[in-house]
Amino acid sequence: MRSPLVAAGLATALALAACSGPTPQPAFVPVAAPTTPPSASPTPSAAASPSAAALRHVFPVLGKSSYGRTHHDYQATDIMAPCGATIVAAIDGVVLEISPVDLYDPKTDDGALRGGKSVSLLGDDGVRYYGSHFSAIDAKIRAGVRVKAGQPLGKVGRTGLASACHLHFGMSPECASTGDWWIRRGVIWPWRYLDAWRKGTAKSPVTELAAWQRKNGCSTKPPKGA
Ligand SMILES: [Zn+2]
Repeated sequence: MRSPLVAAGLATALALAACSGPTPQPAFVPVAAPTTPPSASPTPSAAASPSAAALRHVFPVLGKSSYGRTHHDYQATDIMAPCGATIVAAIDGVVLEISPVDLYDPKTDDGALRGGKSVSLLGDDGVRYYGSHFSAIDAKIRAGVRVKAGQPLGKVGRTGLASACHLHFGMSPECASTGDWWIRRGVIWPWRYLDAWRKGTAKSPVTELAAWQRKNGCSTKPPKGA
């Protein structure tokens, strides 16, 4: 059996492998700043609920950034962006929780703290949106506060387990709302949604997340090795 120390070291290595570098991956797609505003009334498409599909999404980082289609051991996206770039709310919603202080220590590599300074938001579509590794969180952003799509949440940084500035972006069902970092960090691939939002095209993750939750439920403790 592996000692906890070895397991922690392995987890660190895995996380560092994909969450850390500005090294361009073959799958990375250059992303321009979102310039075209979304049309006023997006056509409801394949999403479960037309009202959810009609909610406007905004690409979560302003200015130049890039991202790949893969991540390390779970489904999320690392959006590489300059340190200090502005992070905005992806959709109208309410702030669920923030981690305003970076308590991450590589020696203990606590999964709950790897995100450093982070913000999670319950969108009005019922989806939880999570961003981490902020250098700073906007002073107005606190649990329970309402935010609008495009409203600044903070600045891109590399707090927590991150060696280069980026926004870790994850989408998940609300589940426990707070504290369940192993779900909050992301459970579906965001890149198709990010591709649409940066072009100003409506694309809702509601259907895919509902299917994920039907299949997986909401685990009440982290998976082994997380
Ligand atoms: Zn990440």
